[in-house]
Amino acid sequence: MATYTPMIQQYLRIKADYQDAFLFFRLGDFYEMFFQDAVKASQELEITLTSRDGGGAERIPMCGVPYHSAANYIEQLIEKGYKVAICEQTEDPKQAKGVVKREVVQLITPGTVMDGKNLNDKQNNFIAAIEQYEAAISVALTDLSTGESHVTLVRTIDEAIGELYSHQVREIVISSQFQDEYRKKILERCSATFSVEEGMTDSSHFQRLCQHLKDERLTSAFGKLYAYLYRTQKRSLDHLQTVRFYQLHDFLRMDLFSKRNLELTETIRTKGKKGSLLWLLDETKTAMGGRLLKQWIDHPLINRSEIEKRHQLVELLINNFFEREELRERLKEVYDLERLAGRVAFGSANARDLIQLKKSLQKIPEIKSIISSFQNEDARKMADEMDPCESLTKKLDEALLENPPLSVKEGNLIQDGFHETLDKYRDASRNGKKWIAELEQRERQETGIKSLKVGFNKVFGYYLEVTKANLHLLPEGRFERKQTLANAERFITAELKEKEALILEAEEKSVELEYELFVSLREEVKKYIHSLQTLARKISELDVLQCFAVISEERHYTRPTFSDDELWIEEGRHPVVEKVMNSQEYVPNDCLMKKERNLLLITGPNMSGKSTYMRQVALTAILAQIGCFVPAKRAVLPIFDQIFTRIGAADDLVSGQSTFMVEMLEAKNAIDNATAKSLILFDEIGRGTSTYDGMALAQAMIEYIHDYIGSKTLFSTHYHELTVLEEQLDDLKNVHVSAIEENGKVVFLHKVKEGAADKSYGIHVAELAQLPDKVIERAKQLLAQYENTSDKEEPKEKKVKSEVIQEAQLSFFAAPSETKKETGQKKNEKEVLQQLASLNLLDMTPLDAMNELYNIQKKLKKEV
Ligand code: ADP
Ligand code: MG
Repeated sequence: MATYTPMIQQYLRIKADYQDAFLFFRLGDFYEMFFQDAVKASQELEITLTSRDGGGAERIPMCGVPYHSAANYIEQLIEKGYKVAICEQTEDPKQAKGVVKREVVQLITPGTVMDGKNLNDKQNNFIAAIEQYEAAISVALTDLSTGESHVTLVRTIDEAIGELYSHQVREIVISSQFQDEYRKKILERCSATFSVEEGMTDSSHFQRLCQHLKDERLTSAFGKLYAYLYRTQKRSLDHLQTVRFYQLHDFLRMDLFSKRNLELTETIRTKGKKGSLLWLLDETKTAMGGRLLKQWIDHPLINRSEIEKRHQLVELLINNFFEREELRERLKEVYDLERLAGRVAFGSANARDLIQLKKSLQKIPEIKSIISSFQNEDARKMADEMDPCESLTKKLDEALLENPPLSVKEGNLIQDGFHETLDKYRDASRNGKKWIAELEQRERQETGIKSLKVGFNKVFGYYLEVTKANLHLLPEGRFERKQTLANAERFITAELKEKEALILEAEEKSVELEYELFVSLREEVKKYIHSLQTLARKISELDVLQCFAVISEERHYTRPTFSDDELWIEEGRHPVVEKVMNSQEYVPNDCLMKKERNLLLITGPNMSGKSTYMRQVALTAILAQIGCFVPAKRAVLPIFDQIFTRIGAADDLVSGQSTFMVEMLEAKNAIDNATAKSLILFDEIGRGTSTYDGMALAQAMIEYIHDYIGSKTLFSTHYHELTVLEEQLDDLKNVHVSAIEENGKVVFLHKVKEGAADKSYGIHVAELAQLPDKVIERAKQLLAQYENTSDKEEPKEKKVKSEVIQEAQLSFFAAPSETKKETGQKKNEKEVLQQLASLNLLDMTPLDAMNELYNIQKKLKKEV
């Protein structure tokens, strides 16, 4: 080590603080990487690996990228989940004694990118911090590009993962104490980069953002996140907005699996947006609206009046077609105010950004006037809350040129008449140029050389040029010879040089001054950041509401009404399947769930539409609760507090996780947490194990939900045996998706009807799939055999283990009269059990107890 050159020593010193990042070390016009960084970067970026002598025994691996194209390479690394520390020269190399001073000026990470292709317009880029406490986990989330932050406290790691997942968190800040097991669990579900932060910033730095938070654990998680952002970004975080506290139970809750299964924001198969509910709905016109739409889908409301407020506004927008179209036109011209504000605060906004800001603000008054023209209280309120920041708009309009360049250091940013000194410089330069232009005319006339011209290059400045053919016309000594070209001579004059000096000085000064003026203008905009953020929020809301209106009208949705405990959807459709398959073909279906019909047991052949039907009910509820209309002719809905889905192993496409254990864990989650106000979808549960096992579990779960929870439940099953439950459970009804047989083939009608399906059409589906005739024939034979033997005797190996199943089996195959007796007995047992449960043992003597026991036994014996 001692033998390394001073520069390599400096490199190693800096690198020690950035072990988990690629260190981009500025050397002249390049960012260089050394040692392991170089080896890895050359592979990841496919750039050449070289080496250099660094004073040590061996040559040091090295690779580099030109600084002007670095952004592209940085993006590639960030996209792969890496971090990049940008290390710049912080003193002028000409003035440096020894090695030039260098410092890391920014650590770019997946969670902190501010621009480029890693930032999707319609997607937030959240970074999170999470902390563990005894019985809770605090989660803080910030999108640095928009400045918004949210904090919440959850009970379990699964809930925390649910939040990290639905916010698509790219990076998670933890302390080194953070439990490794949790870390692993998070990584299984979210593709995020972990970062460690131990330090805490002095809380006065972020006091203004979270003084309203009551819980120390929330402030602490946000503090950790803030400390990390401050340490890595090394600049103003002024644009961060007041932290918003939310609780999971303020919204319709869905765990990660349910959100995935319902394909709310991405599809199971491709993980892409296309085919998801978000894709169907996204008619937003602004990037901000697109992001808010996703947030709304992830967090449907549960407060009836808030939901109805949204419906009211959607209806208003549907009924005012022309105004709505006008509004959409205006919204299209509003740029991303939130991210513009972020870049202003970050000091990375250029003049084009400010022009976009100006143009956006200019649209606000028109938008306001359109919505205040609606005769509606909420609409008017919304308009009132939009502050068009007029003084800022005026200032930007006066200051900036309409088409500024990307760079803010080359002039051409500021308008004439905005600043006196700038005008003076410009006059000087323009007058000089005018003089030069006139010089050309004058000299042509006086010398008679028509082709004489004035030119400019960077080395010699202004010159006069005369072609060799005309040189003889030029009086000797008129100009001073400067340069000889192949067929021309270039000259200067003292006066020309004098003017040139004036022009160059004026130009240099005006470029400098323009930059200064621009920076102070940007500082001025900073003062408006919070107004701009509030405005952005209002515009996004309006955008999402108009998007709901467009979709609802286009797709013939209806406004739902709400009831306390009844669900009644008439002619409902699956919003996404309907769109994908062409509406004419989609078969609408009713769904009625209420007291004595809280659980629907759905049977029907494979491919008949059971899963689609169940999801359609859930999506209808979600659409209603985010404030959109719903795909149905009429819909009365309860307001659900939670939705649980369990999609059986057969349909489980989530790669590698379709083990039976996961299925059971998810079922447990539903059963533990569901309430009478929840919706449960169990799609072919128990399929991941052997028939009787699975059937037993399915039945036990249905009974449990029925007796102890009372959630609205859709339970699809291919176990026909379970349909007898209708006779035993008061609140359960059978429905089936019908299919008919035509010429020995099955035809799906996709129509949901009352009662149980009468047949399993498995073999016919196999036929449709064109399995070889031999297989089909053999299957038909075997089926006939099974059907003949099953009511006589079960094959030995299929010995019935569970009592529950025995009951189901018996009743399923028994004659109707016997079935009645069965249920009679069951009823009696129930009474006895109730009697037992209501005994107050502490108030009884042993003899009382004995008597009671005798009575109970008698009752049971009598009945049998
Ligand atoms: P199951 O769960 O009963 O096996 P699915 O719900 O997966 O059946 O539906 C199978 C296919 O049937 C779907 O991919 C869809 O194309 C079609 N389908 C389902 N429901 C309907 C409907 N109501 N109208 C028209 N086609 C439907
Ligand atoms: Mg299915």
